[in-house]
Amino acid sequence: QKYRAFNTTKVRTTCPHCGTGCQLDLIVNQNNVIVGAEPANGPANRNLLCVKGKFASYKFVASPDRIDTPLIKRNGKFEKATWEEAMDLVASKFTELKETYGGTSLAGFSCSRSTNEDNFVFQKMVRTAFASNNVDNCARLCHSASVHGLAHTLGSGAMTNTIEDITTDVDAILLIGSNTTEAHPVIGVQIRQAVQHGAKLIVVDPRQIDLTKHAALTIQPKAGTNVAFINGLMHVIIKEGLEDQDFINKRTENYEAMKKVVADYTPEVVGKICEIDPEAIVAAARMYAKADKAPIIYCLGVTEHSTGTEGVMSMSNLAMLVGKVGRPGCGVNPLRGQNNVQGACDMGCSPFDFPGYQKVANPEVVAKFENAWGTELNPRIGLTSTQVLPAAIKKQIHGLYIFGEDPIVTDPNTAHVRQALESLDFLVVQELFMTETAAYADVILPGISFAEKDGTFTNTERRIQRIRKAVEPTPGAREDFKIFCEVATRMGYPMSYEASSKIMDEIASLVPTFGGVNFKRLENPNGLQWPCRDLDDPGTPIMHVGTFTRGKGLFMALPYKPAQELPDEEYPFLMSTGRMLYQYNTGAMTRRTEGINKLAGRSYIEINIEDANRYGIQDGDKVQVSSRRGTIETYAHVGNIVLPEAVFMTFHFADGNVNELTNSVFDDIARIPEYKVCAVKIKPLNTR
Ligand code: SF4
Repeated sequence: QKYRAFNTTKVRTTCPHCGTGCQLDLIVNQNNVIVGAEPANGPANRNLLCVKGKFASYKFVASPDRIDTPLIKRNGKFEKATWEEAMDLVASKFTELKETYGGTSLAGFSCSRSTNEDNFVFQKMVRTAFASNNVDNCARLCHSASVHGLAHTLGSGAMTNTIEDITTDVDAILLIGSNTTEAHPVIGVQIRQAVQHGAKLIVVDPRQIDLTKHAALTIQPKAGTNVAFINGLMHVIIKEGLEDQDFINKRTENYEAMKKVVADYTPEVVGKICEIDPEAIVAAARMYAKADKAPIIYCLGVTEHSTGTEGVMSMSNLAMLVGKVGRPGCGVNPLRGQNNVQGACDMGCSPFDFPGYQKVANPEVVAKFENAWGTELNPRIGLTSTQVLPAAIKKQIHGLYIFGEDPIVTDPNTAHVRQALESLDFLVVQELFMTETAAYADVILPGISFAEKDGTFTNTERRIQRIRKAVEPTPGAREDFKIFCEVATRMGYPMSYEASSKIMDEIASLVPTFGGVNFKRLENPNGLQWPCRDLDDPGTPIMHVGTFTRGKGLFMALPYKPAQELPDEEYPFLMSTGRMLYQYNTGAMTRRTEGINKLAGRSYIEINIEDANRYGIQDGDKVQVSSRRGTIETYAHVGNIVLPEAVFMTFHFADGNVNELTNSVFDDIARIPEYKVCAVKIKPLNTR
């Protein structure tokens, strides 16, 4: 590190990248510049940090690319504006659209990278000043299926156990659709440590991911076949009498309906659907069911399908079948993606839920929030972000406020997203950088980064942890929640908070599961895990102990349905998308660290060596990839990580953006896109 310790101060905070929630110290020099990051002994990371936390968690804060003044588009070009001009335009345009077309013509996408407090105030602004429930966050694109699927079956849409609990003293781990080493690297290390201590690791993933090197059993099913695979495991467990009948009888309902469906899913049938060895299904079922302590850990390989919610409900089915819920070393554990995507959902950035998953569809809940916020609220559920974009094209949504999201890069079928943004009458983007989406805005408002504010993030294990202001904000930018307060106030709903701690106090007063949370208690280095209902409640490391949040656990009868677009003669490859170790999501933050770009600065496509030989493609060659939605150019990574006739691309790059290709089809329940399966063709561009 190039700094002298005696000239610096350390500020304890939470990593701004993935949902692991690693604690780190930002090293700040006398010139108000962050010069380093060091690991701290947090409950989720135990002095570990990955390459993103160590090197890419702070350089972007002082990047010369930061937007430092409001910008208003005039005659197709952005011009610098004062805050007064920008606020006046934003409030007057949204008010005009609301008066002309009604509040439901307005929508807001909140920021899963920002704090709980910012997210709470954002949804409050949309619900009060806009008079709309069209508010969502990027969980819609990654784990909305977990929120809906786990809430439906268990009663609470969140990880059941803690990271430490599922990686310490366990007998087996069933890892499904999670490339943990790259997406949640510090959890990946803890899984490897669990294996060193004797846990048997079962890896189920269409790709030969890093953790397969440590697995007792590796299964590579065809992408999009999770429901069939889990039905196959349950078929074997029931046939061999390995189910926990006592748990089923006492704690669950609808078992017989589920049992009837899985009766058809013999290993042979499932082997054909998933294109795997039937014996592997039997081996995995026995290994998981016979282990005393065995958590299910899963990620986007389960959720990002047109049957994503069914995939998640299958995880609940399997864990309940063997009584592995509500006790240590077990449970159903989704690894949430962004640093605060759990929190953005908890804070009510959802068209279905007020903060704390209190339902918009329940008139008593609406009355409660009307009473608290002193205004009439819209009683109808709103549109998801994946419904807002097509509604903009149909001229049903006229105004959109995007806080820290970049749908041009992140959403499926980019051509469709461009059309939607161009169809809007008015688009506001609140951002740190000029992103691909910000370029479409009418007004850009400069917000501030995690290192310039106080607040909280909630990590994947429901742990609420502090972030602390380390440096003064970029001159010209403003604190995010204060911007929302001013927009709401100018639209006729006065709103102000003196500090983010006061916002948390309001959250605690309205959300029963946050009733005992306040900034003073959060000074404890372990934070607090919700539910934390009152000031005497220490929080809840393991959920569903003794009883499920919904009372009885609900088995679901789930027949397998294939993905919506499968390879054919014209588009012969099945493509999946996912993360890589070095970059994070759109790369808006990580791409501002030079060393990271040297290691991983461009998009690529993984191709199996057999297919590469057939096409005359060598490692590093430029290739053209096309789907029915678009065409991009990228570079070949040739090897055996993917199976023949399958390809894989990461989603971190605007240049060679894989979402030009992905399919905008959605799960019926959570409206999550099917990023994990679409059909593409490949053309070599290098001539040899
Ligand atoms: Fe940050 Fe996630 Fe890496 Fe931890 S594992 S340092 S939270 S990116």
